[in-house]
Amino acid sequence: MPFHRIAIVGAGPAGYFTAQAFQKAQSNNLSFAIDMIERLPTPWGLVRSGVAPDHQKVKTVSKVFEKIAKEPNFRLFANVELGKHVSLKDLRDQYDVVVLATGASIGRKLGIRGEELKNSLSAADFVPWYNAHPEFVDVKVDLSSDTAVVIGAGNVSMDTARILAIDPAELEPTDVADHALAKLKQSNIRTVIICGRRGPEHAAFTAPELRDLLKLKNTEVSIDPKQIEEAIKHIEEMGNVERDLKNNIEIMKTIAETEKKGLTRKLEIKFLTTPLEIKGSGKVEEIVFQKNKVVRGKVVATNETFSVKAGLVVSAIGYDSIEYPGISIERGRIINIAGHVEHNVYTVGWAKRGPTGVIGTNKSDSTDVVELIIENLKEPKACEGITALLKSGHEVIDQIAWGKINASEVISGEIAGKPRVKEADWKQLISLGRS
Ligand SMILES: Cc1cc2nc3c(=O)[nH]c(=O)nc-3n(C[C@H](O)[C@H](O)[C@H](O)COP(=O)(O)OP(=O)(O)OC[C@H]3O[C@@H](n4cnc5c(N)ncnc54)[C@H](O)[C@@H]3O)c2cc1C
Repeated sequence: MPFHRIAIVGAGPAGYFTAQAFQKAQSNNLSFAIDMIERLPTPWGLVRSGVAPDHQKVKTVSKVFEKIAKEPNFRLFANVELGKHVSLKDLRDQYDVVVLATGASIGRKLGIRGEELKNSLSAADFVPWYNAHPEFVDVKVDLSSDTAVVIGAGNVSMDTARILAIDPAELEPTDVADHALAKLKQSNIRTVIICGRRGPEHAAFTAPELRDLLKLKNTEVSIDPKQIEEAIKHIEEMGNVERDLKNNIEIMKTIAETEKKGLTRKLEIKFLTTPLEIKGSGKVEEIVFQKNKVVRGKVVATNETFSVKAGLVVSAIGYDSIEYPGISIERGRIINIAGHVEHNVYTVGWAKRGPTGVIGTNKSDSTDVVELIIENLKEPKACEGITALLKSGHEVIDQIAWGKINASEVISGEIAGKPRVKEADWKQLISLGRS
């Protein structure tokens, strides 16, 4: 039976859920040969390099990915980068359909004075550093001061703040990068302040992330109860509010009201604060903020400012997609209509929607796009797929090679009492795949 060749670029959740939707859509007269192309020598996208090491349960979704990868119509081509080893034009010619699932990995800038100072980092650098992404091993992180500020009020800022604030012993039984754990063990940081521009009622934290804060044993979490009272008033004025928002405010209220035990490790969430400037001679020393207030549902600036003495600032205010030849980006996303980019090219996941939604959001999104693709399908064309495109001698990490890397990391983890010990060196990853 003739089959359609599908190239999925990016082996993150959106890529795997796209492959799964194609697999589920197969029938007696419709079949697909799926090639997944990934620039890193390892798959799983942000499930490996984004999700926090103390959230191991979230990472069990990788079992679903591996099941998808075991289907006979699936092939992995990791260590192959679109824009470097293959072009979009080549893929378009050699496949019936190309799906870009390349995510959004560029950290948005604050655009304020002092942002370029030493130890002013983006979460887009800090997170992959502690998650053993091979391109971020050498990020310079100085944890010698007592206070760190994290800017942004979403799950990424929460992860960043928690990793900085908790006792590193709590990270010992996780897959945190060895180099990061060593550094965190020597950290002097004892106070971490999350600063959000808007109010508690606008925060993008999800309820599970907030609930996790209540479980921290060695870190005291605080929110100004007055800010929660104000937020409750604003919500009441709004009338009909979503259940998720009510839940969030309820959890934040519990955090604000929880009796403080006087622990030395502190994590504070300060709402209604906009960073104006990062000050310091040569490196971060102080962050100046403007206070905001909510007026008729809108956040407006006040004339009041305050500053925080801190030696590290991490901004977590969103991500944009990378532009590569043949692809145009608008507002951080690949330009698309309901996932359709142009001709036989489509996009899914964070590349399509921007950096919003949890892992599961990508499943329904990918399913919708695959439905659209199938509606638009033409007769399969005569083409050879990626093997016609790669230079001879290019070292591909296929599913078998990835299986070897995976097994090696898990075995090292068993010895160390961890889920895995991640290899962070690109060349070493390749050689593990070869072994
Ligand atoms: C720090 C952080 C923590 C998170 N924690 C959680 C959590 O606890 N729970 C939860 O549900 N969600 C979490 N999320 C959200 C979740 O990770 C995303 O919803 C999801 O990963 C988006 O999937 P994606 O496939 O679109 O992108 P990604 O996961 O980013 O995957 C994109 C893939 O494409 C590859 N790629 C990029 N460019 C190219 C190219 N040119 N050629 C080939 N390959 C390429 C990348 O290497 C990557 O593997 C978190 C996100 C972040 C940033």
